[in-house]
Amino acid sequence: MCGIVGYIGYRDAYPILIKGLQRLEYRGYDSAGVALFDGNNINLAKTKGKVEDLSKKAKTDISLKGTLGIGHTRWATHGVPNDVNSHPHYSNSGDLVIIHNGIIENYESIKKELGKRGYTFSSDTDTEVLVNLIEEVQKTEDVKLGKAVQIALNQVVGAYAIAVFDRKKPDEIVVAKLGSPLAIGVGDKEFFIASDASPFIEFTNNAVYLEDEEMAIVRLGKEIKLRKIKDDAIAYPNILELQLNLEEIEKGGYDHFMLKEIYEQPRAILDTYRGRLLADQGIIRMAGIDDHLEKFLNANRIIIVACGTSWHAGLVAEYIFEDLARIPVEVEYASEFRYRNPVITDKDVLIAISQSGETADTLAAIKLAKERGAFVFGVCNVVGSSIARETDAGAYTHAGPEIGVASTKAFTTQITVLTLIALKLAKEKGEFSSSKFHEFLTELETIPAKVERALQSDELIKVIADVYKDSNNCLYLGRGYNFPVALEGALKLKEISYIHAEGYPAAEMKHGPIALIDEQMPVIVIATKKGHYEKVVSNIQEIKSRKGQIIAIVTEGDEQVRNLADHVVEVPETLESLTPLLTTIPLQLLSYHIAVMRDCNVDQPRNLAKSVTVE
Ligand code: GLU
Repeated sequence: MCGIVGYIGYRDAYPILIKGLQRLEYRGYDSAGVALFDGNNINLAKTKGKVEDLSKKAKTDISLKGTLGIGHTRWATHGVPNDVNSHPHYSNSGDLVIIHNGIIENYESIKKELGKRGYTFSSDTDTEVLVNLIEEVQKTEDVKLGKAVQIALNQVVGAYAIAVFDRKKPDEIVVAKLGSPLAIGVGDKEFFIASDASPFIEFTNNAVYLEDEEMAIVRLGKEIKLRKIKDDAIAYPNILELQLNLEEIEKGGYDHFMLKEIYEQPRAILDTYRGRLLADQGIIRMAGIDDHLEKFLNANRIIIVACGTSWHAGLVAEYIFEDLARIPVEVEYASEFRYRNPVITDKDVLIAISQSGETADTLAAIKLAKERGAFVFGVCNVVGSSIARETDAGAYTHAGPEIGVASTKAFTTQITVLTLIALKLAKEKGEFSSSKFHEFLTELETIPAKVERALQSDELIKVIADVYKDSNNCLYLGRGYNFPVALEGALKLKEISYIHAEGYPAAEMKHGPIALIDEQMPVIVIATKKGHYEKVVSNIQEIKSRKGQIIAIVTEGDEQVRNLADHVVEVPETLESLTPLLTTIPLQLLSYHIAVMRDCNVDQPRNLAKSVTVE
């Protein structure tokens, strides 16, 4: 999520920071800020908006002097995007200043504790809590900044890349990482800090990438000192010589944002349930649901409204909510719902899903449902977005910015959030025994690793893509939980490769699409074990009898389908209701590779916009 930069050396820090932030803009952000040490004081400028707005503000508001500084582009997770919540953040004394990417999950309890000791907070961020915790440790334990950061980080739960410095000791920056990226550029008598190497690649090719749970004290005139945050063990910096160009670095070495985002899914899913799914305690904690539980438990039905990929996530949710929580669900295209004079009562709960939180039709559907008395809950990825503001309550997906127009990690993280809600309601309604609930929670925790395994089919999928890249049509079939995945797979292919594709429930094939099948027609069939497996196998037989080309997505170890299909791609086994999180991965990769082979603009397909803010 978002970007951090820092500089300590002999050059003017400000131009390096601003340019560095511009280089990190591709990561997505809503606000920006810098803090510079001018020899005596820290000068800080920050604003909601673009780096360009920041540079205008900084020029008029502060002295731009100084050879030590830090800068940040924020992608809000706690507290809406505004000037005050932007980073950097001061500690109460004004001596410490911090930038942070990530999420401190237990910030509320720490904030309460610090509050009792007289600390005050000007922002709503988790980050301001962290810098004050560091200050409190520094004072009470009488330790140097590095040690204070280490002690404080051992008290926090969450994800972070931080850079912090102390006005009283302006020859060092302390950095630490867990979950969010952090690189240190090593120059001659100067150091650079950044989320990736793009801000400093023109100054040095030498970089140290911090590992998770490592921290470093970057001190002028000294070698970098790395430590393990947990046990203080010394780690030796591995200085790499970079040979990447700028563009490659922004995309993290991937050729396209879409591919990067596909590969980010294990982390994105983990971030989405982190702090919410507490398997060891046997609970799911989600403020947006906990505070309005009665609304959900007394609802006559849940109406899900969304567009595009989010609508497909809604369809998966329909299966999960009805199957597990036994609550009736309707899923609607927002654009249809808003104009068809739907029957809505105050006993209805409406869930609106949108990655950007700005989708015009979904916003209009929310307004309509509210006017008619429904309780409205939002699921979106962008903090402080219009949908987040318009809804009565909600839950964010913590996917991080999604840049590729074709949605990938937004889809799987939406399903993750909706699964958490369904499981929670199932438990509250007494539909689940404790052991069944526990089985789901522990299985959900294995999903990031299983997605990682599913990604290992990438090379195989490339080979399959090469066979079918020139097709004109393609059919996607799935049943039950995998029916929406078939729709999503077809949408991905259409969007980025411009091949005509249709998704169908496998059994519907006989009611029309089977007429299209001949030896030219690739048919992608999701045939995982459990859930109508035998019936899908029969559908595969029917396709085979008509000479269709079968690409099957199967459970690891499957033999039956392997004997029938032209190609098989395996995904790990999981509970039936969690399979969409795995079966969708090979379909994303297939559409990606076909699009690349057809020379299509993967990240910005023709005629499409990332967020559809007009109806
Ligand atoms: N959680 C912090 C905030 O909301 C940092 C977000 C980020 O990664 O930019 O301010």
